[in-house]
Amino acid sequence: MSKTDLRPALSRMLPYTPGEQPPPGKFIKLNTNESPYPPPQEVIRAIQDAATGPLNRYPDPTARSFRNEASRVLGLPSPDWILAGNGSDEILTILVRGFVGEGQKLRLPYPSYILYRTLADIQGARWEQTPFLDGWHLPTMFGQGDADLRLVLLPNPNSPSGTIVPKDEIAKLAESLPCPLVVDEAYADFAGDNCLDLVRSHDNILVTRTLSKSYALAGIRFGFLVGSPAILGKLGNIKDSYNCDYLATVAATAAIGAQDWLRETVETMNQTRARMETRLAELGFNVTPSKANFVWCTHPSGEHEAMHQFLKKNQVLVRYMNFPDWGDGLRISVGTDQQVDACLMLLERYLS
Ligand code: PMP
Repeated sequence: MSKTDLRPALSRMLPYTPGEQPPPGKFIKLNTNESPYPPPQEVIRAIQDAATGPLNRYPDPTARSFRNEASRVLGLPSPDWILAGNGSDEILTILVRGFVGEGQKLRLPYPSYILYRTLADIQGARWEQTPFLDGWHLPTMFGQGDADLRLVLLPNPNSPSGTIVPKDEIAKLAESLPCPLVVDEAYADFAGDNCLDLVRSHDNILVTRTLSKSYALAGIRFGFLVGSPAILGKLGNIKDSYNCDYLATVAATAAIGAQDWLRETVETMNQTRARMETRLAELGFNVTPSKANFVWCTHPSGEHEAMHQFLKKNQVLVRYMNFPDWGDGLRISVGTDQQVDACLMLLERYLS
């Protein structure tokens, strides 16, 4: 081992590639499930006002203003049911750091969010992927585990499929598992249902949320965890001291208060998604009905990578995903109607 080698567990790590992030303007960007809309006016005003605030001071380490507002809006008993983070990716890092020791195991469904595996690798932990059954159902074994299993992560809606596991099944999973069940609700605002009430009846259910998708704030990095105060208190002890910066906290507080804006925007995007699904099916794609702000589709030709390249050449970015031993396809984010039409017209041209 040389003087500057990283820990052996990290030597085989590949960079996390969430998708291309070109400079703004050149592409129609339907590859990373961001909102195509600007955030609500209240957020812009709050950030402008905050620019003359105490930028020379460290921010509130517990993002109290956000937690107060979020607990009110989400109907939680108190702000102690919320832990704020620098994007839900940081929350996931805190969860893996907190629960999964070296050599212990976390479980995720397959295919789903790749970052969970990366976090396990960084921790020197093991991961176990349970393939979804046909129709994106979970096998019974997803809810079974031994003492080595320290954390189970379930995106709901799932990415890349956009499908959901029903709430009663999630409650049963939590009851049968020997460890915490993290329900990653990055896309739940688009689904019309969520597991927030389960955190009160099941103290091993923890729900993660983000402001990056439905609240149109991917650029500011803000996410949060909802769970029992006893657990969140302990997790709060292992986060970075000032993990949420002042401007992000101000913006997130204004955003979570803008519930009318959220409902309208989600409604618009869900209508666009329905149109997109219909048109993709007319073009011959197999479309998985989505409850999120993206659509997973495959084409009988199997030419997904070529379609991705063709779209890119024509300034439209979608996500080509290839899951070993499972298959590949395109994950297309819901953009504005105009953006989605541009993408659909190009796919039609490719296929004609
Ligand atoms: N969970 C899932 C399932 C996601 O797709 C994403 C977005 N890449 C995240 C969490 C992370 O969101 P953020 O860090 O922007 O809050």
